[in-house]
Amino acid sequence: MTEEKEKSQERIPANFLEQIVEEDITSGKNGGRVHTRFPPEPNGYLHIGHAKSICLNFGLADKFGGKTNLRFDDTNPVTEDTEYVESIKADVRWLGFDWENELYASDYFDQLYELAVQLIKKGLAYVDDQTSEQIATQKGNPNIPGEESPYRYRSVEENLDLFERMKNGEFEDGAKVLRAKVDMAHPNMHMRDPLMYRIKKAKHHRTGDKWCIYPMYDFAHGQSDSIEKITHSICTLEFDVHRPLYDWFIEKLDTFPSHQYEFARLNLTHTVMSKRRLLQLVKENIVSGWDDPRMPTISGLRRRGFTPASIRNFCDKIGVAKRDNLIDVGVLEFCVREDLNKIATRVMAVLDPVKLVITNYPEGQVETLQVENNPEDTNSGHRDVPFSREVYIEREDFMEIPPKKFFRLGPGLMVRLKGAYIVKCEDFVKDEFGNITEIHCTYIPESRSGSDTSGIHVKGTIHWVSAQHAVPAEVRIYDRLLILEDASQVGDDFKKFINPDSLTILDHVLVEPSLKEAELGKNYQFIRKGYYCLDKDSTGDKLVFNRTVGLKDAWAKEKNK
Ligand code: ATP
Ligand code: MG
Repeated sequence: MTEEKEKSQERIPANFLEQIVEEDITSGKNGGRVHTRFPPEPNGYLHIGHAKSICLNFGLADKFGGKTNLRFDDTNPVTEDTEYVESIKADVRWLGFDWENELYASDYFDQLYELAVQLIKKGLAYVDDQTSEQIATQKGNPNIPGEESPYRYRSVEENLDLFERMKNGEFEDGAKVLRAKVDMAHPNMHMRDPLMYRIKKAKHHRTGDKWCIYPMYDFAHGQSDSIEKITHSICTLEFDVHRPLYDWFIEKLDTFPSHQYEFARLNLTHTVMSKRRLLQLVKENIVSGWDDPRMPTISGLRRRGFTPASIRNFCDKIGVAKRDNLIDVGVLEFCVREDLNKIATRVMAVLDPVKLVITNYPEGQVETLQVENNPEDTNSGHRDVPFSREVYIEREDFMEIPPKKFFRLGPGLMVRLKGAYIVKCEDFVKDEFGNITEIHCTYIPESRSGSDTSGIHVKGTIHWVSAQHAVPAEVRIYDRLLILEDASQVGDDFKKFINPDSLTILDHVLVEPSLKEAELGKNYQFIRKGYYCLDKDSTGDKLVFNRTVGLKDAWAKEKNK
């Protein structure tokens, strides 16, 4: 267990949900037991909003000595898939959580069917032959009571017979539904004889062709909670209007009294968060896949170089509210920067190289410099970095006519090459278009880092790579997926707001030779440039790096200009 998690064991309620759990334990409710569940529908990859729900559910159980089930809410055969199940499990594990039981609502299809039969026998459910349009028109609106279906008072025997025949596949899709008999005049529309089962002759990713009737969310979800004896069923705010129905099923069926609590869903600026919309981006090739580093999916964030700790800290930091809000994606970036600063290995990479020749450095000589891997971590050690007469530096670190306070290179200016020597610019070469092609410097032999006796102080230190040792690489720089801050207002129109510059590829990058050994899943700070990680598109011939995040928020600066 991490130190962080240990700390959270102290039972100080951090939010209203923890307060409820604390009170329930104190009053001896459910024998002091805490059992939560994370219930994804396997119809897409998890996103950062799900991470909030995961941290909450697993976090509550962790803090109060309880358990958490991972339950796949797989009651819609058309949209669900085993690929999604596998990705969800991998993502939850990667975030650092382990479930008590791996469960599937589809495992309860027999039990749910039996429960539905019980309701029919109690005269509390009926088979309706009307079309979904007819049922919808009869629903009325919150101010006008609904109209009862002509099939509402079918006999129990007839309902039992029809429901069984629905199960046996005797009717076509949509020909009949099973409805709960609640109250067509109820002020809550969800209580106006809601659907419990529909006919759908589709292959299910787990039960195959065994079933052709599938339970609806409200019935299946609540009763799955009861079957698993979940004590605290946590979901997002939009489900608060479903709670009376959740409770109604439990009361009428006299099943385990699970209780539902709602919290505000996470919305992030400059992105969309629903699986349905994310799927559109994937299907229409607007992104390269669910794990495109621009996606707010867990797999996208992982590929981009986010760490599990940074995402957990983010979920902690934004807290749990009862009112919907929009969180600035800058908060997420702050969290990852904070974590990477502690753990990332510092390396040198030149994104836009220009050659620098040290004219008084012996030709053919190579020095091996010992450079600290991470000044923030005393155990991180050192690595060898070769230095020679010709190096590459960042084009932007040289100016022909440098303004005041430009503490980098320009004619006559001195700068330290990181971990190596102080150099002084003597001259430069331009091509016919006026581009600088080579910078000529001299170096001060006594100024070597670690054993500097030169007595010279320079203000600027710049990064570099030795020309003969440099390794070419591609760097992918990501920006916001949407130019729009709040996508919640535009619905499916969000695609009109895709940021055309969300991906920039730099393909002439030179990195220090130690990065030939770069590993997937490891984080690097390209000194002065930001945090980067190796991408899975890398091959033996070509290194590809993703920028996780810049060193500071260039975007905020841009906006405030
Ligand atoms: P989506 O619209 O992205 O498909 P969903 O709510 O339908 O979201 P589920 O797979 O049903 O997705 O969700 C699993 C759990 O994650 C639910 O308890 C849901 O409330 C929670 N969840 C989903 N999105 C968010 C979010 N943005 N913030 C917090 N919790 C979320
Ligand atoms: Mg859903």
